[in-house]
Amino acid sequence: MDQIVLKNVTKRFTTKTLGTVTAVDNFNLNVREGECFSFLGPSGCGKTTTLRMIAGFEDLSEGEIYLGGAPVSIRSRNLYVPPEDRGLGMVFQAFAVWPHMNIFDNVAYPLKVKKVPAAEIRERVKKALKHCSLDGMEKVFPSDLSGGQQQRIALARAIVTSPKVMLLDEPLSNLDPKLRETMRFEIKKLQKEFNFTIIFVTHDQSEAMALSDRMLVMDMGVVKQIGTPTELYNNPTDKFVHSFLGQSNFTNVELSGGRVYLKGDRSVPLGMEAPKTGETEMLLATRPNTIEINREEGFRGTVVKRVFLTDFTEYIVALGDQTVRVQAPHRNMFRAGETCYLRFANPIWYSAKKDASDAERERRTLV
Ligand code: ADP
Ligand code: MG
Repeated sequence: MDQIVLKNVTKRFTTKTLGTVTAVDNFNLNVREGECFSFLGPSGCGKTTTLRMIAGFEDLSEGEIYLGGAPVSIRSRNLYVPPEDRGLGMVFQAFAVWPHMNIFDNVAYPLKVKKVPAAEIRERVKKALKHCSLDGMEKVFPSDLSGGQQQRIALARAIVTSPKVMLLDEPLSNLDPKLRETMRFEIKKLQKEFNFTIIFVTHDQSEAMALSDRMLVMDMGVVKQIGTPTELYNNPTDKFVHSFLGQSNFTNVELSGGRVYLKGDRSVPLGMEAPKTGETEMLLATRPNTIEINREEGFRGTVVKRVFLTDFTEYIVALGDQTVRVQAPHRNMFRAGETCYLRFANPIWYSAKKDASDAERERRTLV
């Protein structure tokens, strides 16, 4: 069953500097029951606004939202179910815990609001704290705890009402990298135990890849692509998704007679089959870790720069007047200035033409 459904959801804000900004633009989504689904995208792309509309903190400009099959926001009918009646748990980026309440009172709060009997509250808070590795800490105040522990209080408070859906808005962004990784596993574990559906918002691609069953990438309010992490990594539908899901090279090429050449130089082909397209100029997208660098065979280039990184060596290689980034094991290293040969695997092709989102991006950065 689809647990969360968004149909043509749009949100517009009117501001003095930008005029009307469409923060979320005709957003369609179906999240299945029990799924861990991530929203990935750069800052300002509309992730939080979408989440706030699902939670009921934000009105829609257009569209419909359903939770567990029931309508909760229907713009055309002015139907709107308040947040507390949507059956959601939520955790935000800032450690939103009440400093003047101890851990017990922080976590018990949503149950007290619902007038749950005191004995049951004690029982359920105890269980929630245990699941978040905070057992026995009922009387401690948040200010005596680390950021990671404070975020655990927020998690415990979110799960204490046994919600069907958890909305997590960059909950790990303020934690140090090691703790983030630990908490990723804890969130997955909680999901298995409580069997809730998760929407996890992040701007960190490895976090989204590690956690999600499926995910989407969005840009300037528009959903660019939806799929499993591997589908999105291996087959990004456009340049934006490609560059957002890992390091990317974009090389300007021209096609002629089934062959591929660097733009402006038809002397030697690049050694790959040309894509079937009506266009004569394309963008060749490659990942630095799929290009093979050697001394014998392939397209000739010159090493411009070598950087020794912990797990591999990175080279900037000049191909005509363009450069590509190549990552290779620490064997048979090349020196700067040395001639090398490159072999390309898994090329992905994009149109060389500017698309409409390039123009909108420029408009937003100009203001
Ligand atoms: P994200 O969470 O992906 O960083 P947001 O959803 O917070 O992005 O913001 C999306 C866009 O909507 C941004 O351009 C932001 O400036 C704008 N926006 C968000 N909230 C408001 C608001 N209350 N008033 C005006 N503009 C807003
Ligand atoms: Mg946000």
